[in-house]
Amino acid sequence: MAAMKRINQDDLRNHNLSVVLSVMLGSVTPLSRAELAKATGLTKATMSLLVSLLLDSHVVKEGTPVVQSAYGRPSTPLSVNGGVMCGIGIQVNTDGYGYLVLDLDGAIVAERWIAADLHDADAQEIFAGLDGLLQGQERLLRDHGYTVAGTGLALPGLVTGDGHLIMARNLGWEDLDLNGFDLVRRLDVAAGNESDMAAIALLPGYATQRADEGLVSPGSSFVYVSTDIGIGGAVVRGGRVSRGEHGFAGELGHLSVQMDGPLCVCGRRGCVEAFAGRRSMVELAGIATGDAAAGVPAIEEFMDRFRRGDPRVVGVVEQAERAMESMMVSVVNLTDVDTIVLGGGWAHAATDTLRAMRRHVQERILARDKVQVRLLDAGTQARHALMGAAAVGLRQFIDNPLGYLQSTD
Ligand SMILES: [Zn+2]
Repeated sequence: MAAMKRINQDDLRNHNLSVVLSVMLGSVTPLSRAELAKATGLTKATMSLLVSLLLDSHVVKEGTPVVQSAYGRPSTPLSVNGGVMCGIGIQVNTDGYGYLVLDLDGAIVAERWIAADLHDADAQEIFAGLDGLLQGQERLLRDHGYTVAGTGLALPGLVTGDGHLIMARNLGWEDLDLNGFDLVRRLDVAAGNESDMAAIALLPGYATQRADEGLVSPGSSFVYVSTDIGIGGAVVRGGRVSRGEHGFAGELGHLSVQMDGPLCVCGRRGCVEAFAGRRSMVELAGIATGDAAAGVPAIEEFMDRFRRGDPRVVGVVEQAERAMESMMVSVVNLTDVDTIVLGGGWAHAATDTLRAMRRHVQERILARDKVQVRLLDAGTQARHALMGAAAVGLRQFIDNPLGYLQSTD
């Protein structure tokens, strides 16, 4: 009985710690113990105890006490301490592979990207390469006192919850048991679809300290559209990625916008990806075909001709815009989510273009009189899927803090 009671107390404490950490990460400003107690509904006594645990393990630090009113006791702001917990994100994409290490305070600790054309690449070779890169990085992290909370892996395809890659057409990979790779087993990697991971990277406070108001707020709903050679997506509801019954939801790139349109890699005709995917646009413009159409020189040539006003390229881009709009109209009608965030190549589109696309979507959705569509770009700097994969790794600490804190000291 005593053992049972102990287990229940630990479970409760673990849950409470997780809630406290989540509230801290989601707040733009540092919170005091009293504010945390109020926000979580926990008593001040419980909060003091939980905060001591976090302070003792150096996950949280105290700032300078501030007196807020003439008679009030000074309150000490608490904030996340960097340099203690981190998550590793790994990504394999058509344009290369790499990793990123993310600190709980939101800082990028390390990042490495090997640019390469990975179409039809040997998976065993890629994962062995990543394993080698990461072993050196893990040693460095240990030397600096970091605990790796977990590792996420972003892949451009359908991935099951137990680490099976059903297919990644643009890599030419099919039916791959990811657990067969040393790296995946050694780091107990959580693999997922790159668009899901990229959407997670946009969620403020998901696993790192929220720095500012951000593009979307914690707990918000939006549709993320990833655009590159492939077009994918993720539907986020109430701050959670809606993965579907088998984990495969959000494949927006394979919504057909023309039943007799060009053939898509998925075997269907007229998919958005067959109009607006990077390789498809290069092919439709007659610049290159096959593997060459997926390469960097081909898209550079495409962009160069677009800027010079080459009518064929301009036509391809305009057609792609209509395809993207048609897809977005269907998505808004289907999900009743009013915010769409564009990531990848299409996030580079000119502001005027995005504005016009938003207007066209707005005019065509069924609930156009009631719903205002927002079309945002995710920014062109960060590799969102890589960031999201690292956040998925780090989130393992937030979900089970006691599992890590007990092994620190
Ligand atoms: Zn398709």
